[in-house]
Amino acid sequence: MGCRRIPILDALRHPQQILRRLCLVTSIATVGLAIAGCGATTHVKFDGNKAFSYLKAQCDFGPRPPNTETHRKCGDYLVNSLKPLADAVSEQNFECQVDQRTLNLRNIIAHFHPEMKEYILLCAHWDTRPVADEEVDKTKAAKPILGANDGASGVAVLLELARILHETPPKIGVMMVFFDGEDYGATPNLMFMGSKHFAKKLGDLKRAYGKPIKPRYGILLDMVGDRNLQIYRERFSDGKAPEIVDKVWKAAADLGYGDVFKNTNKYYVSDDHTPLLAAGIKCIDVIDFDYPYWHTLDDTVDKCSPQSLQIVGDVIAKVIYSEPALFTGKSQSSK
Ligand code: ZN
Repeated sequence: MGCRRIPILDALRHPQQILRRLCLVTSIATVGLAIAGCGATTHVKFDGNKAFSYLKAQCDFGPRPPNTETHRKCGDYLVNSLKPLADAVSEQNFECQVDQRTLNLRNIIAHFHPEMKEYILLCAHWDTRPVADEEVDKTKAAKPILGANDGASGVAVLLELARILHETPPKIGVMMVFFDGEDYGATPNLMFMGSKHFAKKLGDLKRAYGKPIKPRYGILLDMVGDRNLQIYRERFSDGKAPEIVDKVWKAAADLGYGDVFKNTNKYYVSDDHTPLLAAGIKCIDVIDFDYPYWHTLDDTVDKCSPQSLQIVGDVIAKVIYSEPALFTGKSQSSK
């Protein structure tokens, strides 16, 4: 596989919103964070049902492997969904040569408060696998998967987080990256194409934004919609960014989700976080790899649940809204 870049960054910027400074106070209710800011109390409430509707909306397009009409339409849906919510939405378009085929791929980037010098990276992959190679029946194995969990679930959580980040600005910047080409090939060199491209092009992003672009840390969400959700500490993440794993698992425990976020290791999982870790970004993988429908035609909406998305969304929202201001300099004041 050889990747070559097409355009650098097709920025679709939106006018920056006025930054409201908030003072985060508080404690956590079962579903949501109470935040007192500017004399008023508001609630950051991740809605698992809304997130589930975003999961279904992606699946309504059908399987979404690269170089298909459904893939293109779903990518457009994501861009159009994010544009009213984020301060800046852009696309990284690129090609990859695989088995003498040219794959047309795009990473979709949504930035909240790009004026802030430091930010947290949240990511997921939006493409789905072109073959169901875990099927025993060879006829079935040649078909593309729907990817309700493997693809749509992580994206769904991010879309709902985008909604609450828009409504209630956090004290930090957040960059969401929706990776393409994660699940294409049979071996790691034909996978994680979007995250490899993103890691390789951090310099281009830096020029586009005119400032350092390396995130403080990152959290990857993949396969977080399983009805029977059990998330173990992923071993590559624990090897290179144990403090970030601790942070996320502590948030889960504080919310009473310790039975879902198991505080032990189980798997090494190669995923979109591995190219980022290799590039020096402390990105962890939040993944439930005990999913019997993985890479089969049965990875469908009914195997996922709003409750699972709720749990993961609550945890990530708590991490984001509990994060102290990371930035320094002029962007700390309102703009
Ligand atoms: Zn997969």
